[in-house]
Amino acid sequence: MPDVLVIGAGPAGVFAALRAADLGAQTALITRGEYGGMAANDGPVPVRTLAHAARLVRDARQLGRYGIFVSEPILEYPRLLERVREVVEDVRTHSSLRPHLHRLGVTIYERAGTARFVDPRTIETEGGLRLQAEKIIICTGGVSRRLPVPGFELTATHSDAWSLPAVPPSMLVIGAGATGAQVASIFNAFGSRIQLFEAAPRILQTEDEDVSAAVVAAFRRSGIVVREGFGAIESFEKTASGVRMVFTKEGVRDGAEAALAVVAVGWVADAGGLNLPAAGVETDSRGFVWIDAYLRTSAPHIFAAGDVTGRLMLVPQAIQDGFMAATNAVRGPRMTLGDQVSPIGSFTDPEYAQVGLTEAKARETHDVVVAAVRFDSTTRTIIDGRTAGFCKLIVDRATSTILGCHVVGERAVEITQVAAIAIAAGLRVNDLARVPLSFPTYAGILGRVAANAARQLGLNAGWQASRMEDL
Ligand SMILES: Cc1cc2nc3c(=O)[nH]c(=O)nc-3n(C[C@H](O)[C@H](O)[C@H](O)COP(=O)(O)OP(=O)(O)OC[C@H]3O[C@@H](n4cnc5c(N)ncnc54)[C@H](O)[C@@H]3O)c2cc1C
Repeated sequence: MPDVLVIGAGPAGVFAALRAADLGAQTALITRGEYGGMAANDGPVPVRTLAHAARLVRDARQLGRYGIFVSEPILEYPRLLERVREVVEDVRTHSSLRPHLHRLGVTIYERAGTARFVDPRTIETEGGLRLQAEKIIICTGGVSRRLPVPGFELTATHSDAWSLPAVPPSMLVIGAGATGAQVASIFNAFGSRIQLFEAAPRILQTEDEDVSAAVVAAFRRSGIVVREGFGAIESFEKTASGVRMVFTKEGVRDGAEAALAVVAVGWVADAGGLNLPAAGVETDSRGFVWIDAYLRTSAPHIFAAGDVTGRLMLVPQAIQDGFMAATNAVRGPRMTLGDQVSPIGSFTDPEYAQVGLTEAKARETHDVVVAAVRFDSTTRTIIDGRTAGFCKLIVDRATSTILGCHVVGERAVEITQVAAIAIAAGLRVNDLARVPLSFPTYAGILGRVAANAARQLGLNAGWQASRMEDL
């Protein structure tokens, strides 16, 4: 009998198993499907590969500006999907984690089918495998939220992209959070006519308002029809050429049609098959596994980590959770996560990213200074012909430290990583301004915006102080 059994081999589960074994526990890792979970097989890796293809299409369209003439790019979707499969396989093959798990003696049960609790220390899989352990860590991730509306079975999720024979001529994308926005942006670049529906008053609700406004404007310029605050869905119906969504707003019925409807209205715990009551594990009001500060569930010998707990649903956070849950499972509950700096970004066109507080949130608790620099005033973006976007910094007036950074435009996600390091280090904004970041780079915009904030605070930004323009 292993000391620790980990259920689910996504980032949370893999790191939980690694850590438990590293601490000397006999460890088993069991997962329903392929090793790697959502991240490797159905989320960031394949979606980022599609996003890269979309970027290549955009770059190809720019070639003429640089005197390079080729014909208009033509996308062969089945060939692209082959590339996606190649990438997924390559990432899996080159993972150093799996050999590490083997070296540490972790027993891996892959493609084992859904595991369910029989009692608080025993699980059984669909295939009849029965395992017991002293400690169990639930890392089963999440799944796309389903809507209780008639005809929902006619809709698709982002996962269906992997089995489409061709790019659909038109698409309804319902839900404009990170996943919906990426699906809309990528398939728009591939030539699909996109209508993007968001029930909330603005797309990308959790982003800074300036970010939402810039992305929605760019989406509209690129031909995506965006309907914010569109109302409530009544039903989906089959049509001769696809699907129709019927919705109502303020008592008025409306409809929209396309070849395909992709629904991305949130993420719920993948815990339905686990038979949690048999283990005494409770869920919270949103249906995620309830955990305390040590990632302990309501059954003290069972821990949970990653998306199944419903906190920040991202790979780095799942990894941290897995590490922490295993540490607490083996050594006893002692490790908690302090305040985390969590950069978040999305690979749309334009990219957007954030770290820290939005301007509105920061203003609730701090006296702030806000500085922004537009992409069209920096050298690198002009060289690359990528001048749409901005970088915005929110700074605490009392301490001069950075509370938040929000970027829209080319390489936004990478720029934000630098800001995350500055925030994690507690760097004052004038100290950030003094770092001679390389020229001409995208990240260099951070020096400019930091100098702008330092000037507003009356602080000396060193050599940046006299630099009003980029060059
Ligand atoms: C479209 C999309 C794009 C994304 N892009 C990003 C991104 O760019 N950056 C980022 O950081 N994050 C991204 N994410 C989020 C990221 O994929 C998740 O946060 C991460 O995979 C969570 O890891 P996890 O280990 O908790 O769960 P998962 O990766 O979901 O792994 C859970 C595993 O458990 C298995 N399982 C479930 N139930 C059972 C059971 N009963 N028995 C046995 N096994 C079971 C599942 O099959 C799965 O293999 C994206 C997600 C999506 C959907």
